[in-house]
Amino acid sequence: MRVYNFSAGPAVLPEEVLKEAADEMLDYNGTGMSVMEMSHRSKAYDDIIKTAEKDLREIMNIPDNYKVLFLQGGASQQFAAVPMNLMKNKKAAYIVTGQWAKKAFQEAKIYGEAVKVASSEDKTFSYIPDCSDLDIPEDADYVYICENNTIYGTKFKTLPNTKGKDLVADVSSCFLSEPVDVTKYGVIYGGVQKNVGPAGLVIAIIREDLIRDDVLPGTPTMLKWKTQADNDSLYNTPNCYAIYICGKVFKWIKKMGGLEAMKAHNEKKAKILYDFLDSSKLFKGTVRPEDRSLMNVPFVTGNEELDAKFVKEAKAAGFENLKGHRTVGGMRASIYNAMPIEGVEKLVEFMKKFEAENG
Ligand SMILES: *Cc1c(COP(=O)(O)O)cnc(C)c1O
Repeated sequence: MRVYNFSAGPAVLPEEVLKEAADEMLDYNGTGMSVMEMSHRSKAYDDIIKTAEKDLREIMNIPDNYKVLFLQGGASQQFAAVPMNLMKNKKAAYIVTGQWAKKAFQEAKIYGEAVKVASSEDKTFSYIPDCSDLDIPEDADYVYICENNTIYGTKFKTLPNTKGKDLVADVSSCFLSEPVDVTKYGVIYGGVQKNVGPAGLVIAIIREDLIRDDVLPGTPTMLKWKTQADNDSLYNTPNCYAIYICGKVFKWIKKMGGLEAMKAHNEKKAKILYDFLDSSKLFKGTVRPEDRSLMNVPFVTGNEELDAKFVKEAKAAGFENLKGHRTVGGMRASIYNAMPIEGVEKLVEFMKKFEAENG
């Protein structure tokens, strides 16, 4: 039996994608082998990666002057790759809205001057700071954000005013959750294991003029975006199987109606949960309402023992991975694209029952 999996990542995937992958496990499309066993230079694999890119371009409406790269090393590897590839002036502005943004900021300091231009650490990252008029250095090479903060459950509803600088965004936990205007970014990247596919693959969408030869001295060949772009993400063996699964998820998103439909589906789910949190006497959301994420919903009872009891009883009832991140405590429900509406409805029913018994 499948559970309702509220994990923040790796996370729930569409059941039909998993079933299709299971069906093709021993014999992919008449090749007589699994996708895991085939050469990344084969015709069959070439179709898989090219179709995946084509579908992603269609779903996100990615303009031709942006490259799509399928990279390894997870999102965390890009914390270094971003400054290595972009720090011409050795300076960049970072908006620190959570642990992932902070890690990226700290990593960038290894390579140049990373300037923290805004932060929400004063209130445990429970809000998004006003980024309409930040003090962005004249010679900053880019402005960096983590668009959806997986741990704290906040999301940028408006992008920062970068004062003309290129925006670099880590979208790991909001990837393909709603439409985006790619032209507003220089670089969009995300680890796919939150909302799109298996762990170990990061997709980077990079405006062509930012893919250059003049990277920081000492940049490893593998971390140079140009190496990857010149070789269509096949410089070395990519994460073949993860790309294949992502390709299936892209098809699934298209079938569901694309990103507009995903947004409506995600808003509906989030509303069910937030409405309940706002009316509950026992449970409380931890994020400033206007900054709430559609994907990650942290909440608390205010009593650690009760939180632990809730997580334990929820697990026994088939709701998995609701324990909050250790830095926030309490609970967190991640309700990514593949979480069905019934999953959230049933969770709220369970929370009501728990409240009646423990309130
Ligand atoms: C999970 C996560 C990461 C780290 O991803 P890895 O693939 O494990 O490196 C980075 N940024 C955000 C926003 C995340 O949610």
